Amino acid sequence: MKITHVETYLLDVPLKQRAITDSQTRLEGVEFIAIRIDTDEGISGWGFNWNYTKGTRAVQAIIDDTYAPKLIGKDPLMYKNILRELHYTNHFIGQVGVTRVGLCAVEMALWDIKLKIANLPLWKYLGPVKDKVKAYNTDGGWLQVTQDELIRDMTALIERGFDAVKMKVGLPDPREDYERVKAVRKAIGDNIKLMVDVNTVWDLKTSIVWGRKFEEFDVYWLEEPMNPFDKRAHAELARTLDLPIAVGETIYTKYDFRDYIEMGAVDIVQADATKLSGIDEWLDVAALARCYNLEVIPHTNVQQKLHVQLAAASSNVPMVEYCYESIADIWENPIKVVNGYYTLPEEPGLGCKFTDKVLTECRIG
Ligand SMILES: [Mg+2]
Repeated sequence: MKITHVETYLLDVPLKQRAITDSQTRLEGVEFIAIRIDTDEGISGWGFNWNYTKGTRAVQAIIDDTYAPKLIGKDPLMYKNILRELHYTNHFIGQVGVTRVGLCAVEMALWDIKLKIANLPLWKYLGPVKDKVKAYNTDGGWLQVTQDELIRDMTALIERGFDAVKMKVGLPDPREDYERVKAVRKAIGDNIKLMVDVNTVWDLKTSIVWGRKFEEFDVYWLEEPMNPFDKRAHAELARTLDLPIAVGETIYTKYDFRDYIEMGAVDIVQADATKLSGIDEWLDVAALARCYNLEVIPHTNVQQKLHVQLAAASSNVPMVEYCYESIADIWENPIKVVNGYYTLPEEPGLGCKFTDKVLTECRIG
């Protein structure tokens, strides 16, 4: 089998819900890079990556200009060797960042080809340890809503069957965060898991002082309190607080996860395959975490279908994030959550192909 053609699609997908905010981002839509790798045997593989803001065009340029020419003529089943070569193609202009965002999309497309040949979805190919995956919901906890709206949205999720929810914090005045967390805990009761996400805007002192106060409300984890490059501060925070520390959505290599874990700087590993270089590196991180008896609870927003399958095949992944429900239908055979549990895809392949409507109507490059 030989690769004959590589096509990229730059997509700008608007959210159908109102604009949403956390402590560092105001979001009205998501940019995607989609990639299709064709073969001489009629099998095509689809991969993707995503970004909150403009700039994904740079990823498309990396794929089109440097990866695609090297892919033509290769056997897609030699994918590990291919990816190694592509990584070193951009060795001097970025070990992480746009080069790896693109590399991840290529990796997914090569996995998709392999899975279609095997005629299995990813989770069955890897070997499942469970046949349904618990979801926790982040869509009720955005920062721009009033406290009353926050309580309304959170309680609505619980009425739909979710028993774990996350809310954003990191307002300019942490006292306001405190009052919002207190109000939500009172509204949802003691039997619901409640997580809080700072999105990296606190310093160590703020994290210690306000993280300690959040312990009053039985918060299940404190997510991304500080700059993710500062592992030492996370280690000190984790030593100081009883509250578990969750990080991972802005950690880009398995070596950084290794350091976090060895330093005791993380309790909940939120590895995201689309921020790593793809499925293989995510599996490495999950295996590493298992060696330290740590749970992996992947960060997701648009990539649930990928992570739910990884979760089903991993013994240390108890649940997967669910949000951005308003654009869940961008995918063919979109994944669904029923009574707080994801259904798993049955179609062979990775299952991460956009609908033809999205590929046409949202294409900007
Ligand atoms: Mg987060």
